[in-house]
Amino acid sequence: MQVNQELHAVLPELAHQSELLIAMFDQHDILHYANPAFQAVFAVRLDGSMSWSTMVFENYAMRRGVAINTDDIEQWIASAYSRRGKLPFRAFESDLTDGRWIWMTETVQENGWMMCIASDITHLRQDGRELRQARDQALRAAQTDMLTSISNRRHISQIIQQAIQDRHQKSMSLHVALFDLDFFKNVNDSFGHAAGDLVLISFARRLQACTRRNDACGRLGGEEFILCLPQLTTAQAVQVVERLLEDVRHDMALPDMPDFRYTCSAGLVQLRAGETLEQVIDRADQALYQAKENGRNRLVWLD
Ligand code: GH3
Ligand code: MG
Ligand code: MG
Repeated sequence: MQVNQELHAVLPELAHQSELLIAMFDQHDILHYANPAFQAVFAVRLDGSMSWSTMVFENYAMRRGVAINTDDIEQWIASAYSRRGKLPFRAFESDLTDGRWIWMTETVQENGWMMCIASDITHLRQDGRELRQARDQALRAAQTDMLTSISNRRHISQIIQQAIQDRHQKSMSLHVALFDLDFFKNVNDSFGHAAGDLVLISFARRLQACTRRNDACGRLGGEEFILCLPQLTTAQAVQVVERLLEDVRHDMALPDMPDFRYTCSAGLVQLRAGETLEQVIDRADQALYQAKENGRNRLVWLD
């Protein structure tokens, strides 16, 4: 008991004093703790107003934190977000803007809280660094949809496959929603393929914005997307999808045409005991088909 109490007092003190970079994010990716070493690298706010994406965005603008080579930071964040916190543990190397090189780890609790710990490996891992960077980049490219920067079909299928296994083992709920943009061919025909691409990117941003840590989304191809929602009741899953559809109805996806609006249809199902990925997607597709048949711009949930 005595030792336990001491431990509880000492752990935060040591974390505070450590040269390791330590930070904690909640299930909504809001930053709640960053030790001085972390704060020496990243500009942060710890008042609950800074999400991970805001942190990346602001540090990128100030040329602080991780060195990010992109001219489209939102796309970079979308791509990173599709991998962030999707596994209980993940480790990767990153360049810092100050020239240092860190080994970053993410440890995720089942409730979605994440601890990030990074150590400076500038003097340790110079050998083979370019090869490792090229490998990491190739791996990221293989998981990312080129247009929207969210997970591609292969990556999201792997994630949902894993989620299905977990759910079967722990018999918790898992909902899968399929989305298909309405009359999308008309968008291309009326405004051009480039405008169509902008709409797809905008939809992907909104889809990603409605995910929590343990959710996952991806582009299956064309104007079809998928969302995986673990640990929700059907009523909650319906609410998430309905909110997204409502959000999409107001989406000004084409900056040059502020009056342009689009809609999408959705099919939602809950994973059944013993069901495979193909089977659950097949049922979600039937629900989606009904949503189209019933007039589009709506959600159909099939029991
Ligand atoms: P519905 O409401 O029945 O879904 O009608 P729809 O027009 O959306 O259906 P359809 O499946 O016939 O059309 C899908 C269109 O999506 C056709 C294709 O040209 C377009 N499309 C697929 N991939 C892309 C892409 O990457 N970029 C753009 N701009 N268009 C794409
Ligand atoms: Mg389609
Ligand atoms: Mg369509």
